[in-house]
Amino acid sequence: MHLVTILAFVIIFWRAEQPEQWLLVGEDDVLWTLLIVLAQPPLLGVAAWLSARRAHRLHVEQPDAPQVAQQFHHRTTVWLRTAILVGFAVMVLLTRWPTWFAFQNPALQTVGDLIVLSPFVSGVIAVWLAAYPLERALRARTVGLVAEVGKEQGKPWRLGAYLDFNLRYHLLIIVVPMTLIVFAANITRGYESVLQEWSGWPWTPDLLLGVVALGVFIVSPLILVRIWRTVSLEAGPVRERLEAVCGRIGLRCRDILIWHSDGMIINAAVMGLLPPVRFVLLSDGLLATMEVRQIEAVFGHEAGHVQHRHIQHFLVFAFVGWLLIAAVMELVARASAEPHSSFALSVLTVQAIGVAGGIIFWGVGFGWMSRRFERQADLFGARCVTPSEAGCSLPCSVHPDERSLLTGSGRVCATGAAVFASALNRVAALNGIPSEERSWRHSSIGSRIRFLTSLAGDPHRGARFERLIRRLKIAMFALAIVGSAVWLYYWTVVPEPAILRLQAGGP
Ligand SMILES: [Zn+2]
Ligand SMILES: [Zn+2]
Repeated sequence: MHLVTILAFVIIFWRAEQPEQWLLVGEDDVLWTLLIVLAQPPLLGVAAWLSARRAHRLHVEQPDAPQVAQQFHHRTTVWLRTAILVGFAVMVLLTRWPTWFAFQNPALQTVGDLIVLSPFVSGVIAVWLAAYPLERALRARTVGLVAEVGKEQGKPWRLGAYLDFNLRYHLLIIVVPMTLIVFAANITRGYESVLQEWSGWPWTPDLLLGVVALGVFIVSPLILVRIWRTVSLEAGPVRERLEAVCGRIGLRCRDILIWHSDGMIINAAVMGLLPPVRFVLLSDGLLATMEVRQIEAVFGHEAGHVQHRHIQHFLVFAFVGWLLIAAVMELVARASAEPHSSFALSVLTVQAIGVAGGIIFWGVGFGWMSRRFERQADLFGARCVTPSEAGCSLPCSVHPDERSLLTGSGRVCATGAAVFASALNRVAALNGIPSEERSWRHSSIGSRIRFLTSLAGDPHRGARFERLIRRLKIAMFALAIVGSAVWLYYWTVVPEPAILRLQAGGP
């Protein structure tokens, strides 16, 4: 859902840059536009209601296989979210809906953009409402499981609490920071010529927007921990243990927080690039159901993402992707503009090629890298719960020679791996995730556990894996540096790149 919401904002940005290029529904077709905008939320609600009813039947008919209903519900939810996004793209790019709320005042335009976004939000809420009875039934099972292993009893879920949770967890967490960026974009776009004249440099507005967006990204954890209900983890054995882990691995953060989710979330997260705005979040469900050692393992996984600088590498990845796609679009535009070219492409076709390239690059590349990073964080988590030799109870390749653990040569203690695997298994069971279910960003829990366990028995495999990640990171950095150099060079020798000429309507 987070990604879908980000993409909805990308669509709004895109429309602002390319106002009327894609329009299919003309100026006079007010009724059509209204129909496309207003029909979507109820239609989505009906579709969600039908699929939830089917999942509910599966849930009632197969009480021994609860994952069947859960899996069906997971998949239909993904389809419904895709439908919400596609429907929103249609109304924003193909109709004049956004034009109705295009104001002259750049500061006021953000209000207009939020009105444009409102059918998207209504669609999302319609889907939630339709799924509420099912979600409550599915949750009753989770609550039962949590009560079995937990230290406290879960409460039944009321509609208000359900909507409040979904709004905060899925929507506001993205909408609030993105609205800040939209505001900055409207201001820099609105005062574009003023800024350019004042500074004497055409790129000032873009640079300013980039700086603001980066600033919002960096300080956003301060806002996000207020949108998700969080409080500082009280002093006690859990906090002491986690602070000891922080000390051992050199992780600095502003605070360790409990994340109140009505027991809905059994997970942990780290947010924040820089230590003064970095928070570690442990959900209430996690704290209620896990043993201290398992909490430490999950915490270690999140710490692994920080210590291996995964977010920074994702930013480099995004930058490389942007460079590559810009290069492809420019090459295509150039080839098509050649005097004896056998094909002449419109600016729309070139943009479509860029979008297709972006989808492939992100869909394949980001997923692949993300799954490798998860495994690296797993490895780190297992190392965080590695006991001293006396505590190691399994045949283990580390413990005969404990120093090798510190050199990080792909080694992992078998006991540490087992503790980590137990935590992972429990997270999967309580969240109702089938152990072989994989997603774009995560391998299946089963395969992650098998991988980690195999490393404990085979240090060479671990060393190979760590080498792969190291090379991947170096390759990305090299691409980013070489790509930037080529880009700068190209912009200085070619006064007007082919893609800009095409956009300006030239030959
Ligand atoms: Zn992770
Ligand atoms: Zn060991």
